[in-house]
Amino acid sequence: MRFLENFPLAAFNTFGIRAKARYFAAPASEDELARLLRSVTARNLPLMVLGGGSNVIFGGDFAGLVIHPDMRGIQCLGETAEHYLIEAAAGEKWHDFVQYTLARNWFGLENLSLIPGTVGASPIQNIGAYGVEVTDRLHSLTAIEIATGCRHEFTHAQCRFGYRDSVFKQELRDRFIISRVRFRLLKTPAPRIDYGDIRQELVARHIDSPTPRQVSDAVIAIRSRKLPSPDVLGNAGSFFKNPVVGRAQLESLKADWPALVSYPQGEGAKLAAGWLIEQAGWKGRRIGPVGSYEKQALVLVNHGGATGGDVVCVAQAIQQAVRERFGVELEMEPQVYGGN
Ligand SMILES: Cc1cc2nc3c(=O)[nH]c(=O)nc-3n(C[C@H](O)[C@H](O)[C@H](O)COP(=O)(O)OP(=O)(O)OC[C@H]3O[C@@H](n4cnc5c(N)ncnc54)[C@H](O)[C@@H]3O)c2cc1C
Repeated sequence: MRFLENFPLAAFNTFGIRAKARYFAAPASEDELARLLRSVTARNLPLMVLGGGSNVIFGGDFAGLVIHPDMRGIQCLGETAEHYLIEAAAGEKWHDFVQYTLARNWFGLENLSLIPGTVGASPIQNIGAYGVEVTDRLHSLTAIEIATGCRHEFTHAQCRFGYRDSVFKQELRDRFIISRVRFRLLKTPAPRIDYGDIRQELVARHIDSPTPRQVSDAVIAIRSRKLPSPDVLGNAGSFFKNPVVGRAQLESLKADWPALVSYPQGEGAKLAAGWLIEQAGWKGRRIGPVGSYEKQALVLVNHGGATGGDVVCVAQAIQQAVRERFGVELEMEPQVYGGN
């Protein structure tokens, strides 16, 4: 397996930060990955896993080895009366995978169309959009343990999914590299159109009982209007998680801010982080090359030449503004690597 040295990462992170990796390797099979891990763990090199780089920020150069899983392949492993069991390799692009499933009438991922990144990263933060999350469709996955190079199987329950969360962001953080993910997809369409603007978009297209393909097209159209394409304006999607508050805090916030945007979550609610940021005066505002996007306050964008430090500086300014105004903590969604 070839190590590339001083590898430029600008094309490997959607924020477009010009950092470098001391070493870079892109294993194309589980065996290659296992051999790579066994050869590097003895050397005590810092490691990071990088998929499409759509949920990471480089705080500076990464002084270790970046592993970019590059395994490919999609296959149907079996079926029941209601489901297909579909397996996709970690290096497949998520959106292309979703389109591939729809083309074969394997349903259930349509609401997750146009999310950037790879299949291997999709369980890490339990990607979600328009009322559907990966947890709703994931069956199980295979991962390689970083310390040993050994293969492990994880059931759905063992992934311990939560809102933008999984065991791989908690207890098992930095311990496994996901190599294959299996999904239980539906034979009969069951479109979910009650979330966000999907129904409105379908009405505008004069569609009353949409096919999954039409739901996917609607999601693609809505997302293309609302979110900046990383090819045009560097960004990492939603920059903060929607904060979850308990019932008492929700009631007190609602008393002060009757227009507060929130969604029920357990006993309390999930607040719309974009609304909080907008009310704190940050929509469209920037410091140097980094700012909040003019059409969607929750997205931070790179107007050109941003460093990781520029991004963190704006993120902290927004967190402080929201804390001062609402007493609510915003947690960053992307992970920060490098620069220490
Ligand atoms: C324009 C835009 C829109 C977005 N919209 C959404 C959205 O609607 N919903 C949503 O949930 N997210 C969204 N995101 C965030 C992002 O697309 C997802 O989090 C995606 O799953 C990240 O995939 P990636 O391959 O780019 O991962 P990376 O950014 O490369 O990595 C993310 C994290 O996962 C780890 N990782 C990556 N691959 C593996 C692997 N194979 N094994 C173990 N760890 C791994 C990395 O170490 C890192 O910690 C958006 C991002 C952008 C830029």
